[in-house]
Amino acid sequence: MPRDVLIVGASAAGLATAEALRNKGYDGRLTLVGDEARLPYDRPPLSKQVLSGAWQPERVRLRDDQAIDKLDAEFQLGRRAVGLDAAGRKVLLDGGERVAFDALVIATGVTPRRLPGDDLEGVHVLRTLDDALALRADLLDRPKVVVVGAGFLGAEVAAVARTMGLEVTLVDPLPVPMRRQFGDMIGKLVGQTHSDHGVALRLGVGVARFVESAGRVAAVELADGTKLDADVVVVGVGSTPATDWLADSGLVLGNGVECDAECRAAPGIYAAPGSAVSRRTVEPVCAGRAAPGPCEPAG
Ligand SMILES: Cc1cc2nc3c(=O)[nH]c(=O)nc-3n(C[C@H](O)[C@H](O)[C@H](O)COP(=O)(O)OP(=O)(O)OC[C@H]3O[C@@H](n4cnc5c(N)ncnc54)[C@H](O)[C@@H]3O)c2cc1C
Repeated sequence: MPRDVLIVGASAAGLATAEALRNKGYDGRLTLVGDEARLPYDRPPLSKQVLSGAWQPERVRLRDDQAIDKLDAEFQLGRRAVGLDAAGRKVLLDGGERVAFDALVIATGVTPRRLPGDDLEGVHVLRTLDDALALRADLLDRPKVVVVGAGFLGAEVAAVARTMGLEVTLVDPLPVPMRRQFGDMIGKLVGQTHSDHGVALRLGVGVARFVESAGRVAAVELADGTKLDADVVVVGVGSTPATDWLADSGLVLGNGVECDAECRAAPGIYAAPGSAVSRRTVEPVCAGRAAPGPCEPAG
């Protein structure tokens, strides 16, 4: 039985893991490391109630102080894991500190996919509460918004921005919004609903580049040469597993940390489902591993 559990990623999955361990009677040391400086909060309202201003930011917290205290866990917030020594059972943090563990849970979720040149002022991604607050502040006094990506996130941001009375264009290289999620029929209905509410749709054409003026985004140039004036751009083009810090760990990384059916990536090392995991049946654990890694041969 481990006496020292380290969870990397202090968001929904990290918190749920910590709570489940305590509820199951684990009374050893519990540490959560998270690169955001905030206690765990709920992301779904960020693109809805927080962006629209209907909710104050504090409302997204997943647990109050009392529940956090009861967890009896050490939160190391604002600390980024930058490496894993799986054989030596240590996680390396930014700043050089090494945190030892008996068991590790990887709950680092996903990170937004970026587009070339999207680091311009006025171009936003939306993943964190700080992202949501920065985007809202920008939307409040800037009328022309281009949303790149007509998936869930892009469609939600477009709807909220339109509700705020802004001039919104939704751009996607696919011909139908939310096609990957819902297929053509439902996607067309979603597109029609956006049009009915005054969102301009530019579908079937991708982004060529962001046009800058005085250090800030001024337009989005599409692949067909069209230029869309933009005061604010939101890039919602999907996400990738936040596994960069595990690159040299020896764990098998595919579309996430590859695990067996029990979410085990290696003995004593687990990844939370739904975020950093791409399920793969590995029987016995680590069979078929090509490269030397942290796993001992099964049996
Ligand atoms: C704007 C928005 C709206 C959404 N709306 C919905 C919705 O309506 N319905 C729905 O079902 N889902 C929605 N989702 C998705 C949902 O929020 C995620 O499924 C959920 O957040 C996954 O939780 P998680 O704990 O697995 O990962 P995450 O929430 O991604 O948390 C991972 C945490 O680990 C941290 N981290 C990453 N790398 C490191 C590192 N190296 N060191 C330390 N910490 C690290 C991250 O900063 C983050 O705090 C939405 C997501 C967003 C961003």
